[in-house]
Amino acid sequence: MNDQYHLETLAVRAGTLTTAFGENSEAMFLNSSFRFENAAQAAARFGGTEPGNIYSRFTNPTVTMFQDKLAALEGAEQCVATSSGMSAILACVMGLCSAGDHVVASRSIFGTTVQLFTNILKRWGLDVTLVSLTDAAEWKAAVKPNTKLFFAETPSNPLTEVGDIAELATIAHAAGAYLVVDNCFCTPALQQPLKLGADIIIHSATKYIDGQGRVLGGAVLGSMAIMEPVYGFLRTAGVTMSAFNAWVFIKGLETLQVRMEAHAARALALAQWLEQQPGIDRVYYPGLPSHPQYDLAQKQQRLGGGIVSFEVKPRAGQTQKEAAWAVIDATRLISITANLGDVKSTITHPATTTHSRVSPEARAASGIKDNLVRIAVGLEHIEDLKADLQLLTQQ
Ligand SMILES: *Cc1c(COP(=O)(O)O)cnc(C)c1O
Repeated sequence: MNDQYHLETLAVRAGTLTTAFGENSEAMFLNSSFRFENAAQAAARFGGTEPGNIYSRFTNPTVTMFQDKLAALEGAEQCVATSSGMSAILACVMGLCSAGDHVVASRSIFGTTVQLFTNILKRWGLDVTLVSLTDAAEWKAAVKPNTKLFFAETPSNPLTEVGDIAELATIAHAAGAYLVVDNCFCTPALQQPLKLGADIIIHSATKYIDGQGRVLGGAVLGSMAIMEPVYGFLRTAGVTMSAFNAWVFIKGLETLQVRMEAHAARALALAQWLEQQPGIDRVYYPGLPSHPQYDLAQKQQRLGGGIVSFEVKPRAGQTQKEAAWAVIDATRLISITANLGDVKSTITHPATTTHSRVSPEARAASGIKDNLVRIAVGLEHIEDLKADLQLLTQQ
């Protein structure tokens, strides 16, 4: 079905399994194990000679439906669903790397991903080099004989920097490494990294795939061969997505395209408005011509996405942090919370929340200033969002 239909159709129709009851909406299988006809069938299922469900740590029909739907949208052969976005990244690295292997990652990836690489996985012998997302020469120079993965996130969080997926894939492949792209900000509705040359996609389904801030989940996608050890890690280590969460994500995927278009339309309008306000130093949004990688973003993603960041101009006597906090504290509608991808707009101060565990030096190196504010634009009316940011209309 995957080559025949458009993305919206696949989002609604792909991956669906129907029981003998003929339900028209996907069923939720809240059971931990599956019965076999006899001992021989049990042996065949465990031995992998007969396909079928065994135990929900690694086989569950609701989770399978989610995996197959997301794989269809990303154009991937296989998807492995996980308990969170972080466990997707963990499963990817644990499945594909060993102690002594080397990973090149962009400095501007999700703050917790930096922690996972440089604190936890480093203790287990993973060698990690952090480079600039947008400087291909740094990626090339960082390559070592033991480089296994390139890890990038585009657009990045919170500065919405855009990396050239096709170019990074070429460098990774010349080094004998796989390119991993965290596609959380765009989702397949706006960007399909495998079609641009990436080998592996990571998702935090918690964000736009759910879309309504309800449950946590993640996914790793790629070819059968690449996913085999990733699935092997999940089967053994149990970083499993629950059937309930998979069911929520299936429903989320059905409306992903229309939601992403609505998020992006509001985010673009808000970014354009913010650029005109006297209380602003700088706005970061890939859909603005002022964005440093605007041309690349136009080529690589369908729309600018739903995340807008901006630097607040401090008033006399205000520190950068105080200026940012004043804007956040003056809001009445927008939720002060670190999540993103929700229908409810959210506002956050990266330097003291999502990126607070990154050292001040590393934060400065990745360009996250103390006056930076990030908004994940929801689906409220744009005029109500502007009214909630009135503080920025004053000098
Ligand atoms: C949130 C996020 C993650 C981690 O996902 P969780 O579901 O919170 O574990 C990874 N990458 C990006 C870009 C994210 O925004």
